Amino acid sequence: MLSTMQYVPLTVTRILTHGMTVHSNSSVTTWTGEAEPLRRSFREIGRRAARLAGALRDELGVGNSQRVATLMWNNAEHVEAYFAIPSMGAVLHTLNLRLPAGQLVWIVNHAADRVVIVNGSLLPLLAPLLPQLPTVEHIVVSGPGDRTPLAGAQAQVHEYEELLAGQPTTYDWPELEENMAAALCYTSGTTGDPKGVVYSHRSIYLHSMQVNASESMGLTDRDTALVVVPQFHVNAWGLPHAAFMTGAGMLMPDRFLQPGPLVEMIDRERPTHAAAVPTIWQGLLAELTSDPRDISCLRTVTIGGAACPPSLMEAYDKLGVRLCQAWGMTETSPLGTMAHPPAGCTAEQEWPYRISQGRFTAGVEARLAGPTGRILPWDGTSQGELEVRGPWIAGAYYGGAVSEHSRPADKFSDDGWLKTGDVGVISPDGFLTLTDRAKDVIKSGGEWISSVELENALMGHPEVVEAAVIAVPDERWDERPLAIVVLKEGSTVDGGSLKAFLGESVARWQLPERWAFVTSVPKTSVGKFDKRALRKRYADDELDIAQA
Ligand code: ADP
Repeated sequence: MLSTMQYVPLTVTRILTHGMTVHSNSSVTTWTGEAEPLRRSFREIGRRAARLAGALRDELGVGNSQRVATLMWNNAEHVEAYFAIPSMGAVLHTLNLRLPAGQLVWIVNHAADRVVIVNGSLLPLLAPLLPQLPTVEHIVVSGPGDRTPLAGAQAQVHEYEELLAGQPTTYDWPELEENMAAALCYTSGTTGDPKGVVYSHRSIYLHSMQVNASESMGLTDRDTALVVVPQFHVNAWGLPHAAFMTGAGMLMPDRFLQPGPLVEMIDRERPTHAAAVPTIWQGLLAELTSDPRDISCLRTVTIGGAACPPSLMEAYDKLGVRLCQAWGMTETSPLGTMAHPPAGCTAEQEWPYRISQGRFTAGVEARLAGPTGRILPWDGTSQGELEVRGPWIAGAYYGGAVSEHSRPADKFSDDGWLKTGDVGVISPDGFLTLTDRAKDVIKSGGEWISSVELENALMGHPEVVEAAVIAVPDERWDERPLAIVVLKEGSTVDGGSLKAFLGESVARWQLPERWAFVTSVPKTSVGKFDKRALRKRYADDELDIAQA
């Protein structure tokens, strides 16, 4: 029997029209580095999105399903693009501005982007690549920055504000089918070529509702979210869409991502929520230590993208700011888990839950696959590769303009689950604890050593700023951990004393005997420890290794 309910497609357009009417006075605040930030209401954002869509259709000839890329910081114009492009039936393709040039070229060509909307300050990055981007017919430039790098460009160049000025503030948004493509985002390619994940209108709609749920980020119109996680990194974890659903304000740092300006933003604008990867919070902590400021306006902070060291949580607890860990990936939109402890816990009982990756949200089904593919129990000890499925989880990768979507066997199980490449355990009450990425796990004498556990323990040492652990070949044990450590300036701690410190919380056989001290750990384009780069440094004999 069919239901008696209406069928209304779940589309980004509906999120836009809801936000700009019901929450018309909520605002997007963009940091400008000047006395006053730029404030734009949701109503204004919606009207400008209509103008942008009009310009893309009438002036640039953008049609259904064509890709419009953005190479932009987090700012109001980027939010306008977020809504205009999918709502008109085209596909928003967010480009990661920290990728190496070769990868950017590969991605733009693979996506066959017709238009790139770019912030003026990023022209020195884009302009030299244009001769290698034959599909790009139009460049739309927004915001401050010298335009001369575009002199002589083959593509037509437009000014964002001029395009908008010539258009009406309404657009006859088409009724779209909810399973159509809305946005395209490539994984950051830490494992092989980048892979394109194509989000649907439906997946974005459902994911946004879950982001807003109180067991996730719980945003309301009384909140302002400091969105540090880039809009090019998995749709800024869904925050712009989620904010338009509930009326939460957004504070956008634009290009001012250094700890100093971030602290100033918090100090002046008093956001209640913030989202960023652990390296950002490490940087802020150092800034707050040298120049203390009250940031207790932050009611909750979502931290994810890489494991959050427990010592970082403790440090922020002392500042009155509660970090809540989340797990996800480009393929999962990204929200998969959030680490709110279950009801009824004492502060002490909460701790193991808080330092886990978190509990699966409704809409994300999870299972663990053992080395032979056997599905393992949720008993908190059986360790396997995490597989997930759900309405906002990828079921394939974008094939490119001329190919079918692909379902590589190492990424998708025969019965359609996404193989995450993350290894961990799940407790009987649905909390995930990751011990490693499959490719980072250290296989020593037939046992697995968790690089994440060693890193977290090391970063709990007062003299350690950063620590990354990788597997290196060992004749006797097959693989052993190599600890690569950044010490506080002036520290004289050595491998021996760090090993003794680790010995207080880690089993003896897991303790690294190889130590390298460096001035910084290389980071990926989204700010995570770049273990591939570290492995290469090791292979190229560039690390000075001491035994302890
Ligand atoms: P990439 O895979 O290119 O690094 P993603 O941003 O999609 O790009 O990264 C997803 C991966 O990040 C996950 O598969 C997982 O390994 C890691 N990750 C995300 N959140 C966490 C977390 N809270 N703890 C540990 N690892 C995490």
